[in-house]
Amino acid sequence: MKEYLKKLPEEILNPINCACAVASKNNMQAYLVGGFVRDLLLGVENLDLDIVVEGDGLRFAEDYASALKARLIRHRRFVTATVILEDNLKIDIATARKEVYPHPASLPVVTRSNLKDDLARRDFSINAMAVSIMGDNFGKLVDFFGGKNDLADKKIRILHDLSFIDDPTRILRAVRFEKRYDFRIEPETLKRLKAAVKLGMLEKVQPQRLRDELILILKDKEPLKEIKRIQQLSGFGFINPRLSISKKNLELLSSIEKEVGWFKKVYPERRRLDTWLIYLMGLIDSLDAKKVKNICANFVFKRGEESRLLSYRKLLSKLTQGLGRSSVEPTRIFHLLEPLPYEVILFAKAKYKNQNIQKHIMDFFEIYHGMKICVSGDDLRSLGFVPGPFYQKIFTIVLNAKLKGQVRTKDDELLLIKKLIKG
Ligand code: ATP
Repeated sequence: MKEYLKKLPEEILNPINCACAVASKNNMQAYLVGGFVRDLLLGVENLDLDIVVEGDGLRFAEDYASALKARLIRHRRFVTATVILEDNLKIDIATARKEVYPHPASLPVVTRSNLKDDLARRDFSINAMAVSIMGDNFGKLVDFFGGKNDLADKKIRILHDLSFIDDPTRILRAVRFEKRYDFRIEPETLKRLKAAVKLGMLEKVQPQRLRDELILILKDKEPLKEIKRIQQLSGFGFINPRLSISKKNLELLSSIEKEVGWFKKVYPERRRLDTWLIYLMGLIDSLDAKKVKNICANFVFKRGEESRLLSYRKLLSKLTQGLGRSSVEPTRIFHLLEPLPYEVILFAKAKYKNQNIQKHIMDFFEIYHGMKICVSGDDLRSLGFVPGPFYQKIFTIVLNAKLKGQVRTKDDELLLIKKLIKG
């Protein structure tokens, strides 16, 4: 694996070399593990370094953070820590541990252990490999469960028969990795997965854990493939028992995929989109507001997420009425769309195929979005106006004139103000 490591960009290789030096100094066995190793073998970029240490992981993390002059966040309860570098690269450090599940779908009981136990507690063989970063062993692959062969054979395989019963979130994870890499869940694993679904295991998991996995799915590159596979294997009853994905829903989701692709291509420099929220809006579109509210409470969505998921319903009818006609004043387009989050506007674009709505939304992004006037309160003061509510009125009139293309420069704006006052 040494050759694989050497090919990594400096920003990753330097912290790995530093971890190697800290491990040697402390005489500890340290390993890169999990998704990073999987993607290293696949040649896929992955900037999430996970390091497992046999011994005192927290002590290693303290030394490591000071060697890198980086910030350290300790999670003492889980004997793990996160090192945060200046360029925001995050490195997770954990003490090798063993996990035992006292009940199905419960949180595991954790005890300190060795690398083998640490890898044995993982979800799939392809995620249960490690690469040593210690002394002479630097770059040596540790693969107790045939992960390398499964990668070559494009297989998703659990490590033991009760894996999905212990932790049913692995059902969603299996689908995520299968579709992301275009692999297959191998037959025995698929059999166990279906048996766990039949036992209703997904419904027994703490909702926040399901939410986290759902968000990861919706954030992936092609979530639609993963959504279709979940629909086929378990359905989405774990979000809400009434939720079933109809053909209409799938059409909406594929329209969302198109709109998100369009927006990212045309406006790469604009604010980062929470694309997963738009897909979630599509997924739960058939449910009424009360059910959506219950989902938000159950999954403990953040306030900003909840408000986008809930408010879009009210706003959408206003939008369709406001933008459905062929000729709409630019000021109306601006005042309707400017206060809305991008996620809501793109959802509307995906949902309503009416040509007028499409055109007005495109015009908004292209021409009106973020439009600001140049004159300020200082300018009005210099013209001799006493500050008051009157200022806001003037600003609105100037902005509307700008949206209509009646003024362009600051001089135009000042001229308009002077005319107004005269009038
Ligand atoms: P991604 O590329 O999506 O980040 P990842 O494999 O790095 O994939 P994480 O969710 O960051 O995924 O998890 C890191 C590692 O922790 C996994 O590779 C796996 O070894 C282990 N892991 C995560 N979740 C589970 C789980 N539910 N059960 C067992 N092992 C898990």
